[in-house]
Amino acid sequence: MDIQRVGVVGAGQMGNGIAHVFALAGYDVLLTDVSEDALNGALSRMGKNLDRQVTREKISDAEKNAALSRVSTTLTLADLGRTDLVIEAATERETIKQAIFEDLVPHLGPDTILTSNTSSISITRLASRTDRPEKFMGFHFMNPVPVMQLVELIRGIATDEPTFAACKTVVDRLGKTSASAEDFPAFIVNRILMPMINEAVYTLYEGVGSVQSIDQSMRLGANHPMGPLELADFIGLDTCLAIMNVLHDGLADTKYRPCPLLTKYVEAGWLGRKTQRGFYDYRGETPVPTR
Ligand code: NAD
Repeated sequence: MDIQRVGVVGAGQMGNGIAHVFALAGYDVLLTDVSEDALNGALSRMGKNLDRQVTREKISDAEKNAALSRVSTTLTLADLGRTDLVIEAATERETIKQAIFEDLVPHLGPDTILTSNTSSISITRLASRTDRPEKFMGFHFMNPVPVMQLVELIRGIATDEPTFAACKTVVDRLGKTSASAEDFPAFIVNRILMPMINEAVYTLYEGVGSVQSIDQSMRLGANHPMGPLELADFIGLDTCLAIMNVLHDGLADTKYRPCPLLTKYVEAGWLGRKTQRGFYDYRGETPVPTR
């Protein structure tokens, strides 16, 4: 399978990073979103992130310009019909993802591979709603995509070997490292990471520590580069809650019960960095804990 044209659905934090690394690796990228603001924001963020790579001498100015020239945007999902590989990176909600695949499938050529960047939702279930479960798999990038080395590759029950091999080759060409995970709720990274973040929120909820003391404890006491609440804000609290719900529903174990305080933050629309407020308030010069 020769992959050259790549479609990315969803131009949020992950979509712009995914478009960035594919364009830099020489793929033609078509990025779509329901929001024109999101598309414009993604292009400007990509430009800034590429500039930073030039300043740090990781890439040349010519490589940056070539990458930007390979990215185009569209508000019409059907335009992705002419791509060889689609990576869906829209909001972490199963109904949204299902609707995207249902709308997209009639426009695809027979060989296009479909993938989802979902953090937790069943690949097998998403695949079953398409006409090509054997050409469907999980392609899970880490945030921020241009920096993080790992890509989790998740086989659904029907994923065939050529599809898996094609995606593995793509990861190699991106200069990243793949890890293979089975299709169970939240796969490997988030199965381990999210309960830790949820436990940090319980620690806050029960008054064991403040936002600052919890983050400082895990940075200095466990040598984590970021504290768990800082990391939750970085990921997005809506995404964290959605993943905990998938773990709770999918594994039916009370140890995955989302912390009510996490739910409260999401209900308030305090989703972390992307809305400027979460466990920290980012509206000033330096982040200020909100509890
Ligand atoms: P985000 O909220 O930053 O962006 C989501 C984007 O999807 C928005 O721009 C929104 O307009 C768009 N969208 C919503 N419905 C759409 C539709 N029907 N068609 C096209 N676009 C649509 O979210 P994100 O953090 O980029 O997460 C996207 C996906 O990546 C989720 O599945 C998430 O679980 C996964 N993921 C997130 C992280 C993380 O750290 N944030 C890490 C790995 C994977």
